[in-house]
This record gives sequence, structure tokens and C-alpha cells, in this order.
Amino acid sequence: MGIESNKVVTINFTLKDGEGNVIESTENMEPFSYISGNNQILPKLEDAVNQMLIGAKKDVLINAADGYGEYSEAAIQQIDKKEFPENIKLEEGMRLIANSPDGKQMPFIINKIEENEITVDFNHPLAGKNLEFNVELVDIRNATPEELTHGHVHGPDGHHH
Ligand code: ZN
Repeated sequence: MGIESNKVVTINFTLKDGEGNVIESTENMEPFSYISGNNQILPKLEDAVNQMLIGAKKDVLINAADGYGEYSEAAIQQIDKKEFPENIKLEEGMRLIANSPDGKQMPFIINKIEENEITVDFNHPLAGKNLEFNVELVDIRNATPEELTHGHVHGPDGHHH
């Protein structure tokens, strides 16, 4: 049993943190679709969905290390205010994206703004959190060649990006 790679898999899910707070949910929204075998969702979640039948529901527990990683103190850094573009009005709690020297996008949040220095946190917002997914497997279909070329799922009427 299992879902082959390059299928369009559609799920409903509610994601909760270790304390049961809802972080994200497809409830009252369109279900979520991804292409299987392409690392588009957490590997542990995909492993669990791969064992499900269409219509089945399952609670999947994922510890922080297998989720968005442990919280790292080293990911909190002080940066000289001059490094930030002048045209952005910086605020505490603001989320921004930095480009690393090798061109990788690195999202971060501004923790604290001082006169000359800004404290930023590169941890994923869900780092250090145990995760609970309540998942329902809604549908599995073949991906179209176009979807496979683009590397993402298209909507029912062809395209939506
Ligand atoms: Zn596309």
C-alpha cells in the first residue's frame, strides 16, 4: 500500500501545536493539494498520509525535530540597523526575508529594535514545537504533465498560481 510519487494528493488538515492551539486549518477553506514524492509537505506527514485510504482520517503526531526543527539560540542575531533598506519602516514582530550569499531565501522576524541594532530571529515560527496534524485524505489523482513541469498543483479550471 502507499501513494506513488507524482500524484496530486488532496487533504484536509488541522495543525495544532503541542498545547492543542490551532495553528492552521483547511476548515472552511479549500482542501490542500500537493504533489507526492516531491518534499512539498513534512516528510513524516507524507509518510503517514501514504498509509491512508481515501476518506480516512488520522491524527499524526510529529515531534519538533521531525517538524520544523529545534529552536536554536544561534538563529537569534543582532544586525546593524544600516544593513536594512531605508525605505522599510521596521517594526517589532515584522516578518521579512533575507537573501543568503548563495541566494537562499531566509525568512526572519524582528524581535527587538534598538537605536543602532536590530535583533532578528531566523527560527521557523514553528521551530521547537511538537505538531499534531488531524488529517483527512480527500483525493488522489494523476498529476498532469503540466503540473509536473511546474512542480505544483493547478486548480480545477486549469491554472491558478
Ligand atoms: Zn503552474
